[in-house]
Amino acid sequence: MEIRLSREPTLYRARYLVPIIEKPLENGALITVEGRIIDVGPYEEVKRGHLGPEQDLGEVALLPAFVNAHTHLELSALKWRLTPSGSFVSWVKNLLRIRGSIRPEEFVKTAQEALKAMWHEGIGLLGDHGNTGLSISLLRESPFTAVFFREVIDFQGKSPLKDYLKDHLDDPKITFSLAPHAPYTVSPLLLQAIKAWTKKYNLPFSLHVAESPEEVEFLLTGEGPIRELLEGRGQWSSSFVAPGLRPVFYLDRLGILDGDTICVHLSQASEEELTLLAERRARPCICLRSNTFLGVGVPRLPLMLELGLKPCLGTDSLASNDKLSILAEMATVHRFFPEISPEIILKMATLWGAEALKQKGAGYIAPGARADLLICPIPEGLPSKELFSFLITQPAEQLGRLYG
Ligand SMILES: [Zn+2]
Repeated sequence: MEIRLSREPTLYRARYLVPIIEKPLENGALITVEGRIIDVGPYEEVKRGHLGPEQDLGEVALLPAFVNAHTHLELSALKWRLTPSGSFVSWVKNLLRIRGSIRPEEFVKTAQEALKAMWHEGIGLLGDHGNTGLSISLLRESPFTAVFFREVIDFQGKSPLKDYLKDHLDDPKITFSLAPHAPYTVSPLLLQAIKAWTKKYNLPFSLHVAESPEEVEFLLTGEGPIRELLEGRGQWSSSFVAPGLRPVFYLDRLGILDGDTICVHLSQASEEELTLLAERRARPCICLRSNTFLGVGVPRLPLMLELGLKPCLGTDSLASNDKLSILAEMATVHRFFPEISPEIILKMATLWGAEALKQKGAGYIAPGARADLLICPIPEGLPSKELFSFLITQPAEQLGRLYG
């Protein structure tokens, strides 16, 4: 079921509204005008002041579309071409080698297919990282709202920041930001310069952090497979002195951790690092299916929640995942951490992703929010206390959309 929103004020009634920021509302209704929600509440109340058309969606739950806070569309051509190789750096080397052998038109075609698949999976907002910018025009033509992070890789810090700003967009659908790839692929000065730039424009800042044991080893000692990789690619910098710190402490020393910093992965982050991230109010982005594919470790999600962090979910790319599906990520989180409540998992998949990407009005249902909604049929007799566990375990085929 795919319903385009009427432009005039229209009331939609559903058995459940799942606002995320409040408890679910049974027999609820909302009114939309030109893609925005203007009223939400119990059906009888909302109906009272409404003179326009109304549509009863029936025995369904209405919830906000999912947020994929971290992906790389431009790597979609690598699907099934890489296998876990036992080491993170071997996987990176294979990725670089195979990427070089793929024709340009294949990158575009597979990115288009990946976007289509994400729409089918109920995703409405994306945080997309790219080195080439090939996904920008695809995103612009798509029904998604997106943050496009132009990813910077330059360990020698030779390229001026302005070289990366040529894609700067003024687009209602795409927010353009810069993102350093990781603490081991971008020079310390460039990391700080990018943070200063995103801060100046009040943009989200996102980077891969504490993903692999090799990254931790490199920042602690300056040695290991990552140093060899940098040397092999002519990217080693003789002026670099290993900070002797774990990744999160290193980033904190550079002054780039704050509430607008998205730390992607954290599969190797220690308790002390997570405690510091909580103090800085940084935003973890968990890509659990990618982590398990690469065998780099499992993020300590229950501890993050205990510390008051608000993790969001990402898929990473099809080079380390077989699908770009937040439903699959939620199901995997649920399997790994049955102690985390389905309500929190759904929050990670919606509101906390939108907040991390600094997209106001996304990821929840309330007056003023975007009407980018999922329609999920609810079986008769489903007890309300089972609603969240039902919602996070649905196959994509069950979902309809209400958008426009
Ligand atoms: Zn990534």
